[in-house]
Amino acid sequence: MKVTSQTRAEPVAEPSALNRLRITEIFLSLQGEARDVGRPTVFVRLTGCPLRCRYCDTAYAFSGGTSMSVEAVLKVVAEHAVRHVTVTGGEPLAQRAALPLLTALCDAGHAVSLETSGALDVAGVDPRVVKVIDLKCPDSGEAGKNRLENLRHLGPHDQVKFVIYGRADYEWARSQLKAFDLAARVEVLFSPVHGELEPALLAEWILADRLPVRFQIQLHKYLWGDTPGR
Ligand code: SF4
Repeated sequence: MKVTSQTRAEPVAEPSALNRLRITEIFLSLQGEARDVGRPTVFVRLTGCPLRCRYCDTAYAFSGGTSMSVEAVLKVVAEHAVRHVTVTGGEPLAQRAALPLLTALCDAGHAVSLETSGALDVAGVDPRVVKVIDLKCPDSGEAGKNRLENLRHLGPHDQVKFVIYGRADYEWARSQLKAFDLAARVEVLFSPVHGELEPALLAEWILADRLPVRFQIQLHKYLWGDTPGR
């Protein structure tokens, strides 16, 4: 976990095992993606992920981390004094206590979003949480783990993201858009893999096909590069 005076958790009463999370880092940054791009946001990065996408930029979250209770996470989040909170990973839903954490953050008055690979069941996620599901494209190497049943649990405030490595991924994403009528149901985001696909090229493809999606680039990468905790 990235430890600063602001993120160090105070000792808390012994929580139950179901109440504990392994946390890689908690930090304040600007939301770099999705509908709330640019907003000051506290990120809670949970440790561990069952996937291994070829372009993963958070492999440092695969292991390690610090054990914290839900209450301790809430306390650190509150110290940052912003409304927006994103729970991310790794794959947050790989930890059972992620669901109570999401609910507790909502109960505390935060605007909460969840970044998930979509490989794990999202049915139990608090409906107040904005789900951002990263539907894995073939070039990630993990498209076989997409849990398409998750698309049934999406509401109008949720978002589906495609991270696109090249033309083959783009064409696959376009086919999924049509097959599941996604744009009529949720906000759909198309994003180039940073450093692999020229953003302008993806923008041209989207325009040529008049796709009803939102093009995005990872704002934080342009501001701070691949620095963890930003
Ligand atoms: S799902 Fe996310 S954290 Fe897990 S390997 Fe893929 S990109 Fe990395």
